[in-house]
Amino acid sequence: MHYISTRGGISPISFKDAVMMGLATDGGLLLPEVLPEVDPGTLNRWQSYSFQQLASEIYRLFITDIPVDQLDKLISRSYASFSHPEITPLVKKGDIFIMELFHGPTLAFKDVALQFLGNVFAYILQETGSKMNIIGATSGDTGSAAIYGVRGKERINIFILHPYKRVSPIQELQMTTVIDPNVFNLAIKGTFDDGQAIVKAIFNDIPFKNKYHLGAVNSINWARILAQVVYYVYAWFKVTAETGVDSIDFSVPTGNFGDIFAGYIARNILPPGAIRKLILATNENNLLTRFVTRGDYSISKVVATSSPSMDIQVASNFERYLYYLYDCDAVRTRKDFERFSQTGKLRFDDNLLRTIQQDFASKSVTEAETLDTIRTFYQENDYLLDPHTAVGVNAAQACTSADVPVVCLATAHPAKFGAAVTKAIGRPPELPPELHGLADKKSRCEVLDPDVRTVQNYIARHALL
Ligand SMILES: *Cc1c(COP(=O)(O)O)cnc(C)c1O
Repeated sequence: MHYISTRGGISPISFKDAVMMGLATDGGLLLPEVLPEVDPGTLNRWQSYSFQQLASEIYRLFITDIPVDQLDKLISRSYASFSHPEITPLVKKGDIFIMELFHGPTLAFKDVALQFLGNVFAYILQETGSKMNIIGATSGDTGSAAIYGVRGKERINIFILHPYKRVSPIQELQMTTVIDPNVFNLAIKGTFDDGQAIVKAIFNDIPFKNKYHLGAVNSINWARILAQVVYYVYAWFKVTAETGVDSIDFSVPTGNFGDIFAGYIARNILPPGAIRKLILATNENNLLTRFVTRGDYSISKVVATSSPSMDIQVASNFERYLYYLYDCDAVRTRKDFERFSQTGKLRFDDNLLRTIQQDFASKSVTEAETLDTIRTFYQENDYLLDPHTAVGVNAAQACTSADVPVVCLATAHPAKFGAAVTKAIGRPPELPPELHGLADKKSRCEVLDPDVRTVQNYIARHALL
């Protein structure tokens, strides 16, 4: 299997090269050259597979340059850190299926992909005898999942910038209590945007980037998408076995379009109709809902909500979907994104809108609706949703039809977002064991001025060379 760019400007590369490249060098995003299809016979064979066995089968379709025995080792290492034997268990609450994606070390779904990516990085670096310094900015969730993905790994150092005193206390502790020598938490005296701008400037300093072998872990890395395809297929097996219905919907709380794009890949490798619709759930940052309902993809201002991991205006994985929407026309995709970078908007005609609406339904869920959903769902089912998952459940209730089973992806544990939960039900959620005693643990963090040179100097002193 080889990988190409959505903008058509690179010659096909292997999976390992795609993982190390991250963003395609022509500015596009990497995609498999062809999408494999899983035939009914194969599906039958997979029916009773564990999460790890299914991961192995699905990865093999897309990764042909890592031997299967090595791949299986990477898989078992990646999911050994999960606290639930099924990795992503499915529970039924009322008439809704919830797939719990929060049993990884940082209690959010990003662990599913970042545990795997960390191990893939370590494997490739070992093989090539090279080293890597990962740099990233976080508003809270991605940083800790990335840190847990590479902590203690040889040949990798990680530097994560978070806005000083502007992440939740739990999020801060989840990052700073990881004191492995290869982990560097940098609290930047500024906002998340300051941190992100610094990281961008550092990556644009090409001599610096090359000298220090900088790497990224952001959500455009193909390995992250691939890892997320697995739980859609896993959920499909469980729900079809339980209900006898073989066409189901998924509701996905969406920010950067990464998770839901993995659903789109799953929908395309499974037989037609297996996944009927993907319900794209947004909070008040409704860019993607406007796209699905009106064909209007235009940036507006980011508003802060109780589901902060979805407070996003430009969906970094969107280009991948556009490429397929345009029947793999890289020239058209490139032209659109060049236009978008100047005007901040794209429009889609009725013809395209029909295709878009065959793939997706969508709802933008307000703050009041989010809290109300947490409260009502708790009263009716004795089950606590985190605010991101609540957005997904609310959109599912609005968009699906009664005869089609719907799976809502639960992207975070409610305890990670205690303030919103308290607002909804009048008391804080119970802390899971992973979060007990966090405040008493040893922690390590460097507070730095929001200045590119200051951060570069820090990295230069601590980077692996
Ligand atoms: C990152 C995140 C999302 C959004 O996922 P995307 O892949 O960016 O669409 C939703 N919920 C939680 C808890 C997250 O951390």
